[in-house]
Amino acid sequence: MLMPREIELKTILNKTKRRDPWFLDDYTINLYSSCSFNCLYCYIRGSKYGENLEESISVKVNGIELLEKQLYLRSKKQQYGFIVVSSATDPYLKIEEQYQLTRQALKLIAHYKFPVHIITKSDLVIRDFDILHEIDKTAILPSDFGGKLQ
Ligand code: SF4
Repeated sequence: MLMPREIELKTILNKTKRRDPWFLDDYTINLYSSCSFNCLYCYIRGSKYGENLEESISVKVNGIELLEKQLYLRSKKQQYGFIVVSSATDPYLKIEEQYQLTRQALKLIAHYKFPVHIITKSDLVIRDFDILHEIDKTAILPSDFGGKLQ
């Protein structure tokens, strides 16, 4: 297996310009970059990540620390919204077993009561059903949802 690059960023929680009604994305988080699934149809394939996405995987090692600060500030201002995990990688890459960034991020998201939208091809998501159930029960929906998802 190729070793991922470890990188540090200045921000991790991205606010979208507007929520797409299908994608439900008020915010996005990408704790890894590039993706070992390497789907032929993926929009990131052939971009700066190259044709073989597995060769360009990075781990955002300060992502959890940044997320804690950003969620704290957003929750203080009551700026609740759906967080898409993830929009430009899969949150459950094989290396998630080792780094557990997605699991740590979900714990923070549950703590600050944000709703979440997980997009994955991996059954590793089953590992985090405990936190996802908690989020399902306690998340505060964006004000324009009137407290309901339907
Ligand atoms: S799993 Fe998603 S992010 Fe990864 S290559 Fe496939 S479509 Fe792209």
